[in-house]
Amino acid sequence: MVTGRDDSHHHIGGPTEKCGVVGVALGGRDAARPLYYSLYALQHRGQESAGIVTHDGFQQHSHVQMGLVGDAFGADDLDGLKGEAGIGHVRYPTAGDVSKSCAQPFAVSFKSGSLGLAHNGNLVNADELRDELENFGHAFTSTGDTEVIAHDLARNLLEEDLVRAVKRTMERIHGSYALTIMHDETVLGVRDPEGNRPLCIGKLDDGYVLASESAAIDTLDGELVRDVKPGELVVLDPDGSGFDSYQLVERDNTAHCFFEHIYFARPDSVMNDTLVYEVRRGLGRKLWDENGVDTDVVMPVPDSGRAFASGYAEAAQEDDATVEFAEGLMKNRYVGRTFIMPTQDERERAVRLKLNPIKSTVEGKSVTLIDDSIVRGTTSNQLVQLLYDAGATEVHMRIGAPPIVAPCYMGINMATREELIASDKSVEEVRDTIDADSLGYLSIDAVAEVLEKSRADLCLGCVTGEYPYDIDGEATDRDVSRPVVGAEAPLSD
Ligand code: SF4
Repeated sequence: MVTGRDDSHHHIGGPTEKCGVVGVALGGRDAARPLYYSLYALQHRGQESAGIVTHDGFQQHSHVQMGLVGDAFGADDLDGLKGEAGIGHVRYPTAGDVSKSCAQPFAVSFKSGSLGLAHNGNLVNADELRDELENFGHAFTSTGDTEVIAHDLARNLLEEDLVRAVKRTMERIHGSYALTIMHDETVLGVRDPEGNRPLCIGKLDDGYVLASESAAIDTLDGELVRDVKPGELVVLDPDGSGFDSYQLVERDNTAHCFFEHIYFARPDSVMNDTLVYEVRRGLGRKLWDENGVDTDVVMPVPDSGRAFASGYAEAAQEDDATVEFAEGLMKNRYVGRTFIMPTQDERERAVRLKLNPIKSTVEGKSVTLIDDSIVRGTTSNQLVQLLYDAGATEVHMRIGAPPIVAPCYMGINMATREELIASDKSVEEVRDTIDADSLGYLSIDAVAEVLEKSRADLCLGCVTGEYPYDIDGEATDRDVSRPVVGAEAPLSD
């Protein structure tokens, strides 16, 4: 069970990101410490487990532990991770058990070498592939879909060279994946053909790095080269001197997760050539254009609403609204993820422990409260109440994303349809439930406009209920079908 876990690092009661991946190839020094620092930079993407796999030219070394990056590795562990190339992973469980057997990177030795795999995303045809591979005699040690990819790749590597083996696996797996892979001492990066999860390439003085987000490259004093393209395989030279690129699968349209820009990614990361912080400010400006309300103060829900609120207030002031930007909710930074909420009743106290309103900013004022999204609605309701209790005369809620109406199958721990407040309620009904004076969301078109993407190039599954992948029992938003695997599968050329 993952309920009761707190994710105060980011957003109270919000969805949780699945994973962060990294890969490093250096010339002349061990990769373990740069991998460790990168994982620190990606900690917001997963707090359940952390792991590093390296290769010293002769053998693989692996250290994978439950817990935060800082707790998972000691200096001795890092010293034992020999080799100038390696991959790393931080995980929040989505597919598979919450147990060490699903922690990553997944490492395996097979006839023609060793493999390590770190996966961000979620396959939607993992069960079919697992059945097929089990019929071929593969034995699985975990319930996660990453092991399925590893076994499929290991099997293909017995017959093909590295690039063709990856291509064959990509033709068989369906769903969302950004992978860093280690085949002996060679580090690879792969992004699914829809580019659903992010992955980028960075250059260091003495090597190259692959990472879910560019903030990890910054941490290593590196420079962002570019995003890995959807359907692209990047192979880092083991001596850190460069990389090769292979466009293995091409599609007419991509399906970037728009939620990365809204919420998951660090604001200081650059994705799709744009700084996430600036995108969030742009979304906030649009929110004013579409749904502005002139109140005494506008304030963010810390920290998730901050960039949106700053853009919103700026656009409001340009329109001569008298609204003042203020931080009216203060966060207790020391309420950590180990905080235990024994009962549902205590959840209200959890909000009070984490956030305290500044009375003098709120009392006697009409307030616009800005957040990035509403998932279950319970937190929004408590925040509205908190502001009324502090003396607000009106509380208007503005949200920097469209209503979330459907679950995510691509690896985001969102909520079920039953839990999502907007899945069966109109905006007015949600407003009534959270008890705000008014409620306004951002439109899907505004999101596409600010992200400078057409709707056809975004995954909008959680806000439309139509998905870019072929998922059992769900509608698709494009002409897409699962690859045929098993006995009927055509042989790859
Ligand atoms: S369904 Fe939503 S959260 Fe999931 S990948 Fe698509 S846009 Fe992202």
